[in-house]
Amino acid sequence: MKFQNTYETLPNNFFADSTPAVFSNPALLAYNEELAEELGIDLKKYSEKELAEIFSGQKLLEGSRAISMVYAAHQFGGFVPQLGDGRAMLLGEVVNPKGKSFDVQLKGSGPTVFSRNGDGMSALGPVVREYIVSEAMFHLGVPTTRALAAVNTGDVVYRRGEEPGGVFTRVAASHIRIGTFQYFANKGDLDGLMTLLDYSIKRHYPEILEGAPKNFEGMNLGLLFLQSVVESQLSLVSSWMSLGFIHGVMNTDNTTVSGETIDFGPCAFMDRFEFNKVFSSIDRGGRYSYENQRYIVAWNLCRLADCLIPLVDPKPDKAVEMLNAELEKMSDTFDEKWLTKMAAKLGLTVTAKTKEEDKKLVNNFLELLENNSMDFTLSFRNLSDILDADKQKKDLLFKPSEKFSVFEKNWQERLKQEKGGTAKIQEKMNSVNPRYIPRNHQVQRAIEGAYESDLTDFHELNKVLKNPFTYQADLDRYSVAPLPQQEIRATFCGT
Ligand code: AMP
Ligand code: MG
Repeated sequence: MKFQNTYETLPNNFFADSTPAVFSNPALLAYNEELAEELGIDLKKYSEKELAEIFSGQKLLEGSRAISMVYAAHQFGGFVPQLGDGRAMLLGEVVNPKGKSFDVQLKGSGPTVFSRNGDGMSALGPVVREYIVSEAMFHLGVPTTRALAAVNTGDVVYRRGEEPGGVFTRVAASHIRIGTFQYFANKGDLDGLMTLLDYSIKRHYPEILEGAPKNFEGMNLGLLFLQSVVESQLSLVSSWMSLGFIHGVMNTDNTTVSGETIDFGPCAFMDRFEFNKVFSSIDRGGRYSYENQRYIVAWNLCRLADCLIPLVDPKPDKAVEMLNAELEKMSDTFDEKWLTKMAAKLGLTVTAKTKEEDKKLVNNFLELLENNSMDFTLSFRNLSDILDADKQKKDLLFKPSEKFSVFEKNWQERLKQEKGGTAKIQEKMNSVNPRYIPRNHQVQRAIEGAYESDLTDFHELNKVLKNPFTYQADLDRYSVAPLPQQEIRATFCGT
């Protein structure tokens, strides 16, 4: 593994050096060979024991320098001027064969200068959860940080009682968050802000600079950067919502400028659909409910815009006006992205002419799901089956009702405008409606298994979720929705 450490070339106030904690008996739970290969990492010469040492920070590879990054954040709407990686350490960046660089970071590797009252550790549960859910997210085609490894440290941490400790190795396009911009903006550190903007553009949106005149004359990099992050984040959150995903803690430190999903804490894919569904036990006001995610991402992007004011124009009024002009477009942009993805789930390609009708159909279907306590994922998946099903099978898939009949009639009528026959439409629908998602009760079982040193569920779940859109006979039990008594209604941060 060859490291390049560009973040460390930034000024000293961007990060602090960290030393991983010493663990008594690290054991490897998982190492993602497929991802390693994509990244051009070759650790085949190391034994499993050595890999466990590497991915728990006991053995630092050549060229690696462990650092923790500083940032600020709005957490549940309240501003915290200084946070930072309290339990995470960047080992360095690796460059994949295509020349794109990725952060490799340990999470749960011990205290850092940013730990405040935390112990810098992680329990094994959140490690197993992040491994499964972040990889599932990737295979569902959504931008996300990924899982390179998971280690059981052999030591206990104290959460809701004693729990085994774990270290998670996260791979990310970068760990720059809206909160990173907020840290420098809040300090009034204009040099820091400019450095961060320059670094972020080069790393994530180099296309902004392509063909740029020397000295970027006439270009407003702050504004172009905001446009790019808005585009990536709205695209991301609309994808989450099209899959029934609830992030759970959309604080500005959990909102990347790269547009990747980050921090799989109390997140979950919904079983039964509810517009206002909340899982996170810490989200008492429902700020980060399923439906609110579209408004919260916009709010977070406004906080990024706040930071960019001094970089957009020397006259604040002018800067605000220019930034606002961008922010005002967010609502329409989100609606459009959302509708394109949701309509595709019904087999529909949205055009200017069908837009209003398609929106109505999507909302009608979602209301049907909510009013009948139906499973989000399976209901969308089953829709393609009713296109060529007989009445009996249809009635099995969707409980007959007046409302459903009306929806079905309108939908089938609208489908007549789509190109291709039934088989083609079904194929298209099945390529965007997964059969398998990491259901909470299954993730929970995998965690419980890992606590008993039984990784069967963990490995099976990872396997089935590699091909979420393809029926897998031997593992199809993972498609089944939970029984009421199996349903998990709250998730915990478990930090
Ligand atoms: P998160 O909820 O994971 O986004 O974390 C929010 C902040 O709390 C981040 O700055 C974390 O680094 C910090 N934090 C979370 N858990 C711990 C822990 N066990 N020890 C120290 N800091 C933590
Ligand atoms: Mg976080």
